[in-house]
Amino acid sequence: MAVVSTLKLPSQGLGDPVLLDKIDQLLACNLAGYVNLPQLVVVGDQSSGKSSVLEGLTKLPFPRDSGLCTRFATHIIFRRTRADTKRSISASIVPAYGKPAEHASRLGAWKATHMESLDSESFASTMREVHETMGLSRSREESSKPTFTLDVFRLDICGPEEDNLSIIDVPGIFKNTTHGLTTKQDMDLVKDMVLSYMRNPRSIMLTVIPANVDIATQEILEMARECDPEGSRTQGVFTKPDLVDKGAEDKVIDLVEGKTSSLKLGWIVVRNAGQQQLLDQDSNRDEVESQFFREAHPWNNLPKDKVGIASLKIRLQEVQTTQILESFPRHMRAEVGRKLKAMKQDLSALGIERSTPEQQRNFLLDIIVKFQNIVSQAMATSYGTHELFEKDEDTRLATIVRNRMDVFKSDMEEYGFEYQFLNWAPALHAGVGPVPEPESGSGDDSDDDDDEEADGIPVRKNMNTSEHSGAIDGILHEQVNVRKPRGGSILAWIEDQYRASRGFELGTFQTALLCTIMNKQSDKWTELALGYVSDVIDIMHTFILKVLLSICPDEQIRDKLLNVLVDELSKRYRAAMDQAQMILEVERMNLMTLDDKFQQTLDIAQKRRCVRLIHSISGEDTILNYFTSHQEQYEIVKGKEKVPMSNTQQTVRYIHDILAAYYAVASKRFIDSICMQATGYCLLTGPRKPPGLFSPQFVADLAEDQLMEIAGENARLSRRRVQLKKGIQDLETGRKIMM
Ligand code: GDP
Ligand code: MG
Repeated sequence: MAVVSTLKLPSQGLGDPVLLDKIDQLLACNLAGYVNLPQLVVVGDQSSGKSSVLEGLTKLPFPRDSGLCTRFATHIIFRRTRADTKRSISASIVPAYGKPAEHASRLGAWKATHMESLDSESFASTMREVHETMGLSRSREESSKPTFTLDVFRLDICGPEEDNLSIIDVPGIFKNTTHGLTTKQDMDLVKDMVLSYMRNPRSIMLTVIPANVDIATQEILEMARECDPEGSRTQGVFTKPDLVDKGAEDKVIDLVEGKTSSLKLGWIVVRNAGQQQLLDQDSNRDEVESQFFREAHPWNNLPKDKVGIASLKIRLQEVQTTQILESFPRHMRAEVGRKLKAMKQDLSALGIERSTPEQQRNFLLDIIVKFQNIVSQAMATSYGTHELFEKDEDTRLATIVRNRMDVFKSDMEEYGFEYQFLNWAPALHAGVGPVPEPESGSGDDSDDDDDEEADGIPVRKNMNTSEHSGAIDGILHEQVNVRKPRGGSILAWIEDQYRASRGFELGTFQTALLCTIMNKQSDKWTELALGYVSDVIDIMHTFILKVLLSICPDEQIRDKLLNVLVDELSKRYRAAMDQAQMILEVERMNLMTLDDKFQQTLDIAQKRRCVRLIHSISGEDTILNYFTSHQEQYEIVKGKEKVPMSNTQQTVRYIHDILAAYYAVASKRFIDSICMQATGYCLLTGPRKPPGLFSPQFVADLAEDQLMEIAGENARLSRRRVQLKKGIQDLETGRKIMM
C-alpha cells in the first residue's frame, strides 16, 4: 500500500505547469505536514501487487512477495534538482507522534546518506537495518517485539531526472493472523494506519486488486467505498491479468470498460513481473507488459489508455491535476490560513522565548521588575494601581500587617501579664474603716471574660499554611493559646516571691527579685510576640507567593525560582524571629529605663496609695498633692495611723509599685520594638527585607547554568516552540506561494 502525492511528470505535457510548480514548491517547504495536500494512496490487500505497481511507477526495487515485508509506512520523496546536480539518495526515520523521547531520539538520529543508487540488494539491506533500528521482530522467536510500527521510514531521492513525487508505502491490510507473528491488534493497527491515509479528502486512492481473484473478497474495496462513498477519488487498478483463468476475464473487462463500474475514475489494468520474470535477470518489466497487452487475448482489445503502467502514470497525472485544480487555491489557502492562526495562538501561549542566557535573564528581569512594582504599591497602599489588590485581598500587604500590629498591641495589653497590677487611684469610699485594696483582675467585665475565653486566645491569627506548602513552617511559631491573666491577688503573689527569696535586707529587697518577678509577670510576652512575628512572616510569604503567581503563571518556573531563593528567604524570615527573641531577652532579663515616665508613675502610685491609706485611717479628705514629699506623707500618715502595716506589707507594696511603673514603660517599649525591629525592619523596610531578594542584582548574579535551571525551557517546550516556529514559517512561505 502506498501514497503518491502531487505528481509532476515533466516528460508529459499535461497539467498547468505553473500550478504544478507551485505544488512542487509547497512540497519543498513541507506543507504536506500541515495541511492535506493532494496525495495518491496506493492501497490493497496483501499480495495484491502494490509493491509491483509502485516499482513500475517509481522504478525503485520495492521488496516484494515476502508477505509481511512492509511493517511500517515508507515515505518516498522524489525531487527534481538542477541539471548540473548529481543524483543523491538519503534515508531517515520519522518517529511516530507520541513515542517515548528516548525511542524518538534514537530513531531520529538514524540516517543513511550518500547512497548513489538503490538496487534491490542495497534497498533490501537498508530495510533490514531500519527493521533493526525500529526494534521490530524479525522472526517468531522474537515475539516480544512488535511486528508493526507507526514510525515512518523516509527515502529522499534527488536528481535532475527524478519526477517530483511523494509516495508513502504502508503495509497491506490482512485478514488472517499468523501465529507468533501477527495478532488481532496488529491487524487493527495496520487497518487504522491505512485508513488514516485514505481518509485525507485530498488523497486519491489507487486501489490495487488482483484480476485473478473474486473482487468481492477484497476488503480494501469496502474500505475505499467507506472513505469515498461518491467514488470520486478512487482509481481502480487491476494486476495479474496474465493469471486470470481463460474464460473468466469478462467480469474484469466489463469493469475496465466502465460498463459495470461505479468508480468515476474507472479502472486500469497493469501487468507486473510475476515470480518467473523476477528470477530472469534479463527480463524487462515494461517490455513484458507491452507485449502482453499487444498479444494476449482479450486484453489486447482494451483501449490503450486503460492498460499498462505508462497509461496509469498519465491517468494519475490527469486525476492529480484535476484534484489540485479543485482544491487549489481557494480551499487550501483557507486551510493554510486556519492552521497558521492556530499555530500562532499556540506559540504566543508559550510566552517569551527563553533559550539563550540573554533571553532567560531578560525573562527573569521582567518578572523581578513587575514584582518590585507590586511590592512598592502594596507598601504604599496604592491598591488602585493593580487589579491584583482587588482580586486578592491577601496582597494588601501594608494594611494586613498594620491590622495585625493592632491585634498584637491589644493582645499584649489584655493578656501580656500574669497578674493585674493594682490601681491605687482614689476610690469613692464612704464610711470609716480600712479602704479595701482594689480588686485584682482587669476590672468590671473580667468575670464575663472568664467563661468565654477560659482557654485564652490563640497567638497565631494568620495561618496560610496551605498557601505556601509548608516550605517555611519550620521557622514559624506553632499555634498555642495564652491564658488570660490570673485572677488572684498580685500582692499575695509578690509576697510569696518575696518570702521565697528574701535575706537580711533591712526594709529593702534585692534587685534580682524585681527581675525574677518581672520575668514571671511578662511570661506570655514570648508566645504573643513570636506568634505575632510568625503571622507577619506568614503574611509576607503568602504575599510573595501570590504576587509571583500573578506575574509568572508558569508553575515550573515559579517553583524553580523559589527553590533557588528559599534558603535565603528562610534566613531572612529567621532573622525576624531571632530579632524578636533578642528583644524578648533584653526586655525580660534586664530592668532598665531612662524614661522619666517611670519615676513619675512610681511617684503617683505611691502617693495614691498614701491617699488611700489616709482615707482609710481618717476618713477625711487630706490635701495631698504630687508635690508632697515622702517625708511629709510619712508624717501625715504616722500622725493618723491606727493600724500600722508590717515591714513585709510595706515592702511588697513598694515592690508592686516599682514593678507596675516599670511594666507600663517596658511593655510599651516592647510592643514598639517588636513592631519596629522584628517585623518592620527585618520584614518590611530594612535592607534585608525578604521581598528585596527579588532584585535585578539577584538575576545579574545568576550563573548561566542557574539561569538555564530556573528559566530555561524544558526539552519538550523547546521542541514544541521550534516546531511551531517552523510550522508558521513553512505555512507563511506556503501562503506566499499560493498567492
Ligand atoms: P503486495 O503485497 O501487494 O505488495 O504485492 P507484491 O507486489 O509483493 O506482489 C505479490 C506477488 O504477486 C509477487 O510475487 C509478484 O511478483 C506477483 N505479481 C504482482 N503483480 C503481478 C502481475 O501482474 N502478474 C503476475 N504474474 N504476478 C504479479
Ligand atoms: Mg508490498
